[in-house]
Amino acid sequence: MTTSEDISRCVPAHDAQALPVAQAQAIVRRWAQPVATAERVGLRASLDRVLAEDVISPIDVPSHDNAAMDGYAFDGAVLADPAPGPAELELEVAGQALAGHAFTGHVACGQCVRIMTGAPIPAGCDTVIAQEQTVRTGERIAFDARKISRGANCRRAGEDLARGRAALSAGRIVRAADVGLLASLGVAEVAVHRRLRVAFFSTGDELRSVGEPLDAGCVYDSNRYTLGAMLARLNVEALDLGIVRDEPAALEAALRSAASCADVVLSSGGVSVGDADFTRRLFETLGDVGFWQLAMRPGRPLAFGRLWPTHRDDDLRPALFFGLPGNPVAVMVTFYQFVREALLAMSGAKVEAPLQLRATSSTPIKKRPGRTEYQRGVATRAADGTWLVAPTGSQGSGVLSSMSRANCLIVLAHEQGDVAAGTPVEIVPFDGLI
Ligand code: AMP
Ligand code: MG
Repeated sequence: MTTSEDISRCVPAHDAQALPVAQAQAIVRRWAQPVATAERVGLRASLDRVLAEDVISPIDVPSHDNAAMDGYAFDGAVLADPAPGPAELELEVAGQALAGHAFTGHVACGQCVRIMTGAPIPAGCDTVIAQEQTVRTGERIAFDARKISRGANCRRAGEDLARGRAALSAGRIVRAADVGLLASLGVAEVAVHRRLRVAFFSTGDELRSVGEPLDAGCVYDSNRYTLGAMLARLNVEALDLGIVRDEPAALEAALRSAASCADVVLSSGGVSVGDADFTRRLFETLGDVGFWQLAMRPGRPLAFGRLWPTHRDDDLRPALFFGLPGNPVAVMVTFYQFVREALLAMSGAKVEAPLQLRATSSTPIKKRPGRTEYQRGVATRAADGTWLVAPTGSQGSGVLSSMSRANCLIVLAHEQGDVAAGTPVEIVPFDGLI
């Protein structure tokens, strides 16, 4: 396991106070090791779970050569060596094959079999001519042999998935198509990683829960709801620990109990340098701090490291800890930039970087070099098929409506300065973030 010394070695002394995003992400990646245990679940319950083992196909799919069209099956050899003269070919219909009902008779030279999509290709046949390309008169068909080549409209056995091959590999997050694919193999259950346990709470004396009266000077706690929603998308076991007051004793109890019941602990608020910001100070005594200030906006204060349930003991497993900022937009941005990937990796998933596209900024954007900025943007498709993007008005890190209106983040790199209208920028569409 990575030690805190390893971490401090990753953090160059000169910028330990405000770590560039890429370095911080590298540190998180080193700490976010998969939880090992696996369990077996039924096919329907496998949606959004992470496969713990490769799924080896027990059969060929399709299991037999079959027709891809409604039409007539015949031996394509007659096409390979066309007789001189007219291209029209005539065949006699010897019988029919339906899906689930094979034609078992003999197909002689000059004959064909009426065949429906999905029906097994009769022995001796290898080509299907679509019904629309033929003219049928009684028990005979005629068609233009130049319009079809040998092997056409046949799906081969094993063409989709071959027996003995890995149909899906370990680390795969099971999506709707995968559930269907597993069903097509006749697989009734699969081994998946156990769901990650993630405990989360909000901190702040000013916070009120939905359903409570909003006292003067107070705000509703939105972070727990945003976090709960983002965690639901990642299909982890989310433990909502409520609101914790700005009191060191209450906060210490919350951090310890969260660390004892979860693989990952997320808090929001109290990581800045204000008088009531106890989260970071307590974390420094209860855990190992990987970093706590980043060169990014929003999300400059972000405490990361690990947290022991009671005391430092090699037999106890520490929880990974993210002390997220309090500002609602910063919570979402830091979640997508750091927490999401860590949770996926700890869940055993092969992590893919979120989809990133290049778009043209339709307005100038102010940007200070020396920090990565994530602006909320609205991307639209121009008439020529390229992407245009504009920031959503106020970029304050407390303005959650900007996040709600946006459909992407505009990612402005560490060294980047002001962006002129009409120049390219990178965007991360929200739809790619799950
Ligand atoms: P803090 O980092 O605790 O100083 O919080 C920064 C800002 O975010 C303050 O304006 C807080 O009121 C606000 N804030 C903190 N936590 C939440 C929350 N759970 N829901 C909504 N706003 C919050
Ligand atoms: Mg606070």
